[in-house]
Amino acid sequence: MVLPRPRDCVTASLHDSAPGHEVTSAIVPALYRQLAAAGLGHGGAGTIADVTSCPGAEACKLAVTQSRGLGRALSDHLHERPDLVESAGALSIKISGCPNGCGQHHIAGIGFQGSVRKLGDRAVPQYFVMVGGGVDEAGARFGRIAAKIPARRVAEALERLIAYHAAERRSGESAAAFFGRVEVERVKALLLDLETLRPEDAVDADFVDLGEDSAFKVETMAGECSV
Ligand code: SF4
Repeated sequence: MVLPRPRDCVTASLHDSAPGHEVTSAIVPALYRQLAAAGLGHGGAGTIADVTSCPGAEACKLAVTQSRGLGRALSDHLHERPDLVESAGALSIKISGCPNGCGQHHIAGIGFQGSVRKLGDRAVPQYFVMVGGGVDEAGARFGRIAAKIPARRVAEALERLIAYHAAERRSGESAAAFFGRVEVERVKALLLDLETLRPEDAVDADFVDLGEDSAFKVETMAGECSV
């Protein structure tokens, strides 16, 4: 199969459009079709479904986890659940595959940082969960650590957080504002049971990172961040 080349598609459209490389409204439908064919047609820009992550283990030698795998899993989950997107609005989700933080998880409404835990002699991919980060006119605000959760349970944690905002928010309070003010101890209590993974409760999937199909192992190598 020959994949469409986004750059060529866009360039052709721009040349067909107008001098100065402006995109006229007349060609927007065709341009959208070309971008969608290249896998760039997802909706939800500016909402919680617009999940961002660093390259993670897919391309980075310093990675611990497959952050893009988590990003795709959460994005797919949110696209299947418009009720969650409507509830959380523009709350940002950012993911980094290691503590270096290229995915800027520290300044996300909900941030995830890749990590690992040992269960017996096997490795479980996990994520630190941070809440309440953001950037506004006053500057950057770092999120606070609320939990360390096995990767396979992150979607459940996200659902709980969105439901918590919906249940506890003040009138008209955005999810970003809510997680910026809520006591982190209450968020920790909300997610506490998701942290515990006893050997007798673990299933094979717990030892496989999201987006992978073989046993998880950390293979950090000499090199540089890929960002
Ligand atoms: S070094 Fe940067 S790009 Fe690489 S996994 Fe860590 S945060 Fe992601």
